[in-house]
Parts: sequence; structure tokens; C-alpha cells
Amino acid sequence: MSSSIQKGGKRPIIIAGPCSAETEDQMIETALQIKESCNIDMLRAGIWKPRTRPDSFEGVGEVGLSWLVNAGKELGIPTTTEVANTKHVEQALKAGVDVLWIGARTTVNPFAVQEIADALKGVKIPVLVKNPVNPDLELWIGAFERLEKSGITELGAIHRGFSVYKHTKYRNVPNWEIPIALHERLPNLPILNDPSHIAGNRDLLPEVSQKAMDLNFDGLIIETHRSPDTAWSDAAQQLTPKSLGVLLDSLVLRSRYSEKLDTEHISVLREKIGDLDDRLFEILMVRMQLSEDIGRFKKEHNITILQPEHWKKLISARLGRTSEYKLSDRFMRQVMDAIHQESIRHQVRVMNNALDTNE
Ligand code: PEP
Ligand code: MN
Repeated sequence: MSSSIQKGGKRPIIIAGPCSAETEDQMIETALQIKESCNIDMLRAGIWKPRTRPDSFEGVGEVGLSWLVNAGKELGIPTTTEVANTKHVEQALKAGVDVLWIGARTTVNPFAVQEIADALKGVKIPVLVKNPVNPDLELWIGAFERLEKSGITELGAIHRGFSVYKHTKYRNVPNWEIPIALHERLPNLPILNDPSHIAGNRDLLPEVSQKAMDLNFDGLIIETHRSPDTAWSDAAQQLTPKSLGVLLDSLVLRSRYSEKLDTEHISVLREKIGDLDDRLFEILMVRMQLSEDIGRFKKEHNITILQPEHWKKLISARLGRTSEYKLSDRFMRQVMDAIHQESIRHQVRVMNNALDTNE
């Protein structure tokens, strides 16, 4: 049973399985459904779950390891689970899990990554490292360095997106330029994409997965569950093995970038532009929320929405900085006018009570 994830090997590598192992029956049945509907290379399941809030399901713990390993045997493929400390590493190794992964909430913490690296000294096992929840490339690279220093030679990265305060259409914003930069820094490191944790809902999975393929990621790790809506964790983003099969069949695989360097360059630039546009609109969204707060204040204090003097001052301050931004006066004015119009529209809605006061 090969558990190697290599650059230039089979593409895409598909790791799939439930967010969490819940029961023995759920693991075996999920495996049987996978067998029927799709071809995957490795079975995943979370045994210890890092949850945002207490009193959520925190994983079944050690007992689930044999369920995962047995389900992997049923499929004849290797297995992988998340480890966050020495105890997890020891128990996962003892149970015969083939590949370990370090979760996004662990990668942020160099103490925790070092603890895992120390526990793995002298052990030959592939380790996948998810990006840290914050968009910090150096922290991600630091985790690989710690593992390498412990003698781990088979490494892979998982891009699972980055936390933001206000959720956009994604649960975790992709910031594609970060895995692209990781590839520039560590060209031999295989990089998988985790559309499940980026999307946060199953409808977005095809779009994110296809984008990862277009960007030449080496594989995907996707959460699949026999009955996603009743999953004990991450219900909204899981899909049945049958739907996973449909998703995998729909993926269009374009040729590797190395065969078409020009296309690679353009795609990378386009991705960077797309990400900047995403951010521009996220910033505009937050800006409009502030306009609504001002609208509420004006309403409470009986002040009119239009404050022309104030607006004139804002415009001339911006126009005074066009050369600094390398933008034309005309463009600056058009953008500012459009923002002003939209902001008034939000304030009017607040005045008319069209918005919930907590919105
Ligand atoms: C998971 O894969 O189920 C998980 C907890 O992911 P992350 O570390 O990306 O949040
Ligand atoms: Mn999950």
C-alpha cells in the first residue's frame, strides 16, 4: 500500500473521508459507499477535533483509530488523521495510521509543531501540514523546517484557506497567492487543496476544486459523509460519496504549467488580480457596514443623511493624493462618487428601518 504523495506523481491525488470518525458503522459504511462511487487514494477522518467553541463534538479519540484503519483496509488504501500533540502521534502510530496531518490551528503554534516534530524523530511517516489559520507564509514554511530537522522527508502541504472576521462567500478565504508563493519557495513540495474548509458549504466545492486544478495543485482533500446533514461536525460542507464521485468526474485537468510556461505566468498574475478584487469588495462591504452605523447614529440624533461639506472635504483630500496612488483624477472621482452613492443607499435603508438594528 503506497502512501507516498509526490510531486510529479499521480495527479490529482484524492484524499477523502468524513470530517470526523463518529462510529464504527459510519466509518465502514462511508468506506463501502466510497468503494461504490469514487476512486480515492487515501482515507481521512478526524479523531481529535479542534473546535472553535467548547461543548461541540471534540472527536471520539483513540477508539476511532481502529475504525479508520479498518475502513482503509476495506478500501485497500492508506489512512490519514490529524495530530496535535505527542499523545496523538503515539496513538496514531500505534494504531497503524499511514500518514499524519497537522491542522491549521496547530500550525500557528511553533511550540505545538515542535512537540510533534520531536515525537516523530526517527519515525518514517509522511506528514501533511495545513496552512496556519492566519495568512503567514513564513509560519507555514517554519512548520516544514521543524519536521525536516526531525528527519521527516515525505512532506506535503494542504491549503485550507484563512480565517477572516466577517465571513465572505467562503468559510475561509482562499488567498490563492499564498500557496502560489509557497510553491515558488518550495518547488518540490506537493500541495493539496482542501475545498471543504475553504468553501464551508457543499455548493461551492466544485468551483474551488476546479480552481485548484487550474492552478496545478497536486491533489484535493475533501470531506465526505454517508449522511452529511447529520454529521457531528462540519455538516454543511460534507457531501455523500456519490456526489463526491460526480464532483471528481466533473474536474477538468489542464496540462501542467511546466509545459506551458507562458500560461503559467498569466494565470498566476490573474489569480493575484482576482484575489485583490476579492479583497477590494470585502473592504467595501465593511465600509458600507460602517456607513450603516453612521446612518443609525444620524437617525437617533435626527441628523440629515447628506452632509455635503463633509463629503467635499473627503473628495478633495482624496484628489490631492491621486499622484501618490498613480491614478487619474477622473478615475478617483468616479470611484469616490460610486462609493458615496452606495453609502447613501445603505444609510437610507437604515433610516427607513429596512435593516435589522443588529445587522
Ligand atoms: C479538518 O480537516 O477536519 C480540520 C479540522 O481542518 P482545519 O485544520 O483545516 O480546520
Ligand atoms: Mn472538518
